[in-house]
Amino acid sequence: MQQSFGVTVTDRGAIILSKSISVDGYADGAIVRVVTHIHSDHLLDLSRSIRYAEFIAATPLTLDLLGALGHRIPEHKKLPMPIGMKVQVDDGVLRLVRARHIPGSASVVFESSEFSAGYTGDFKLPGTDILRGLDVLVIDATYGLPEWVRPWQEEIDYLLADIVLDELRKGSPVHIYAYNGKIEEVMLLLREMGVDAPYLVGVRHYRVLRVLEKHGYRIGDVVLESSREGWEVKRSRWYIRFSHYNGWRHSNGRDAVHILLTGWEFSEPYKRLSTNRLIVSFSDHADFSQLVEYVKEAKPKLLLVDSYRGGRAARVFALYVSRRLNIPALAVP
Ligand SMILES: [Zn+2]
Repeated sequence: MQQSFGVTVTDRGAIILSKSISVDGYADGAIVRVVTHIHSDHLLDLSRSIRYAEFIAATPLTLDLLGALGHRIPEHKKLPMPIGMKVQVDDGVLRLVRARHIPGSASVVFESSEFSAGYTGDFKLPGTDILRGLDVLVIDATYGLPEWVRPWQEEIDYLLADIVLDELRKGSPVHIYAYNGKIEEVMLLLREMGVDAPYLVGVRHYRVLRVLEKHGYRIGDVVLESSREGWEVKRSRWYIRFSHYNGWRHSNGRDAVHILLTGWEFSEPYKRLSTNRLIVSFSDHADFSQLVEYVKEAKPKLLLVDSYRGGRAARVFALYVSRRLNIPALAVP
């Protein structure tokens, strides 16, 4: 079996890249805690790391988002790492690499004279820089089962923009439901696709969007739902309202078209449930075929699949990689 050089995923979900580096979870003795992005399953035991680690490292955007979401990191512990910046840790170099998932996301690499290791974090393709030729690669495999494929994954952006524009043109406001992070990703995407209707949001997203704007993202017209302006925008019926996934259960108002974005729809790109309710198969994670594509290109000497977050799918994916791609692979923990 290939050597792992101490790289692992602990049973509390921390990815250990070197003795002083823990990623997305707490580990005793880690001097640097890296945060790949702001999803809660990657902020495990963060307050403990803030207390005991010397540095909390992340992209400048992720650090600011953590602040906006109420995580108090003392200034002297913040280690903002723009993509590509190198930081000396142990006897090697730590750096972040571009990953497409939600705003601020990054993959992580550590290279020393003895070994090289990396963690993909959550990602999808294209738009993620593949970590090639490492001794040990830790991969996120949320959609690790062979049947979890969305062949339309690379065209779905256009399809979603089409659906939204179509409904707006027919005079119907659009309500979109998705997980945090994905909401911001979709907001940016729709603007890129030329959708210019005002966005109506609650306080949490309003705060997050202010941070994105500070970092140069262009989000256009955003209105706080509870404000007077929000009320006026609603009356105009020309708007897109964004809410958390959980709001979908109560989304039956006849006065708008309701769209749920989910990565767990594999049968077709979108489904109309009734005249004003739709499900769109939109994910911020690689599907199975993209995971295979990633691993084939990355060709690590040893692949570790994160089963803390991936569960059974991680074990199935590790088996697939070792048998079919001929790359030693294990699910950990
Ligand atoms: Zn995530």
